Amino acid sequence: MKIGILTIGNELTSGRTQDTNSSMMARVFSTQGWQVRLMMSVGDDELLIKQALGYVLAQSDAVVVTGGLGPTADDITTAAIARAFGLPLCRNEAVLQHIRGIFEKYRLNWTENNAKQADFPEGAEVIPNPVGTAAGFALKQKGKVIAVIPGVPREVRKMLPEGVLPILRREFPEAARHVAVRTIKTFGLSEAAVDQALADLDPAHTGVGIGFYPNFPENHIVLTASDADESLATARVEEAREAVIRRLKKHIFAYDSETLEGLVAKSLIERGRTLAVAESCTGGLVTDRLTDIPGSSAFLERSVITYSNSAKTELLGVPADMIEIHGAVSEQTARSMAEGVRRLARTNLGLAITGIAGPTGGSDQKPVGTVYIALADGTETLCRRHAFRWDRRRNKIISSQAALLMLKRHLDGERDDG
Ligand code: AMP
Ligand code: MG
Repeated sequence: MKIGILTIGNELTSGRTQDTNSSMMARVFSTQGWQVRLMMSVGDDELLIKQALGYVLAQSDAVVVTGGLGPTADDITTAAIARAFGLPLCRNEAVLQHIRGIFEKYRLNWTENNAKQADFPEGAEVIPNPVGTAAGFALKQKGKVIAVIPGVPREVRKMLPEGVLPILRREFPEAARHVAVRTIKTFGLSEAAVDQALADLDPAHTGVGIGFYPNFPENHIVLTASDADESLATARVEEAREAVIRRLKKHIFAYDSETLEGLVAKSLIERGRTLAVAESCTGGLVTDRLTDIPGSSAFLERSVITYSNSAKTELLGVPADMIEIHGAVSEQTARSMAEGVRRLARTNLGLAITGIAGPTGGSDQKPVGTVYIALADGTETLCRRHAFRWDRRRNKIISSQAALLMLKRHLDGERDDG
């Protein structure tokens, strides 16, 4: 089934409100195996609404419209669509009672313009709004379906699955498909490199769609297959997934809803190991990510942000002359930070990050983006030097990623060779 999305509202075309409804709805439709052909936004203008609807409808089997269903004079979507199809407006008594009920419940003053929200084009099917006053409606025209719902994202989130999808499934039963989706999360490869590595997995051949979603510093690969037969869709995606794993194995760190910090936390908890972290250039980002995971207190003993040289000396016991000789951003200091925080916290593991996030502070020997990450486990201390090449914010983010990845590989018993 081909779907068109039309969002309506002056707040969209003036840039005051970002059109999040379109992307939210498109994601839902794609998980149904339906193709979104186009998305369009227009202001609250009758002629434009009519023309846009005609255009979008011509490319689609069904059009979903959001916005312009409010009680005020600027919201004209219902009237514009009714006129576009030459249909009169009819008042729906049940909806009118529902709206009046909401006004009574919240002791709001009734004004007659609110009754407008109970008017629908003749023959329309009402789509109830369980979380607001503006009901939506669906119309059938020449075998195509037009579903109209309010613009408030909270209402869209509710009315799309509960109101719109059942109507579309009912009207297009042959479009009912099972969709299998798997996500593969990679780090350390550019989008272009991922694309090239997977170039031979031609969707026309495999029947599996490949989407690339850069999510700095990660690149996510989303595989989708749809089929009337659920097991066929699953089998196709699994086959493609194995092919992707064969090609990118070294760079894959997680699947589907897994996150790097979530996997690190899981590993630490499963192995009953404790962690202390000393952060300099990441300013607490590693700890922020780890503490996003419920139950992180089971493994995280403490974290310290040691930004100055004296903090590294006072709180971690890094010798002042070591910093003097080798610099705060050096292998020696990173190792000493990791060993120091581990010793003071009496944990199994000590993780330390020190680097130059930029844009200033770089030198020829240690340019911006130079980051040392060290991991002490009491037997040995690993240290890696990284050369990142981003701006300040992204250097911090990618440093936190590299630190968590080093931890994960160590816990998994893998060699950290990049
Ligand atoms: P409306 O249904 O036109 O009265 O819209 C109500 C409110 O929902 C607007 O004031 C916006 O804040 C929000 N809204 C409308 N359309 C969108 C959209 N496409 N994406 C995100 N928010 C929207
Ligand atoms: Mg509006």
